[in-house]
Amino acid sequence: MRKAAPVAKTKAAPDGTASGRCLCGAVEIEIGTPVRWAWHDHSAATRRAHGAAYATYVGSWRKRFRVTRGAGEITRFRDETTGTTRSFCARCGTPLAYERARSAHMVNVPRALFTTRTGREPRYHVAIDQLQDWAYLGEPLVPLKGFPGVVWERPNRKKRGPARRVTG
Ligand SMILES: [Zn+2]
Repeated sequence: MRKAAPVAKTKAAPDGTASGRCLCGAVEIEIGTPVRWAWHDHSAATRRAHGAAYATYVGSWRKRFRVTRGAGEITRFRDETTGTTRSFCARCGTPLAYERARSAHMVNVPRALFTTRTGREPRYHVAIDQLQDWAYLGEPLVPLKGFPGVVWERPNRKKRGPARRVTG
């Protein structure tokens, strides 16, 4: 039987703040919760900056965002054509923040950095017309025989139309 992939449950934030960190742990951040808003960004610039199908952000008032460790490890890329600045951990490359010149009082932080809830569900999509056809959209998955822990999406013959010959 096919079923959707299991979803990891996220713990509630303890005390009106959510803490996050980069992959290597050099940089730690904190935001006040609930965050202002949360959304999925499908734009090409964000896709490349994250090396991922899309990125999910939480937006915070700048005054409610703090770097609690490793401020000196943060490096920035300013995109002059769009007036945006992206911050990364200089050691491990984790994206840390995305800021727009025209919204100087806000800072957008990748949702994935936080292990607890941030007080908003990401119900909004930016640049949905750029959603990639290779992104995972919750299709049913089954275990891949011989590869413990790996699941895959079996081709749906009914949807494929005429059989295609694979010629290598
Ligand atoms: Zn790091």
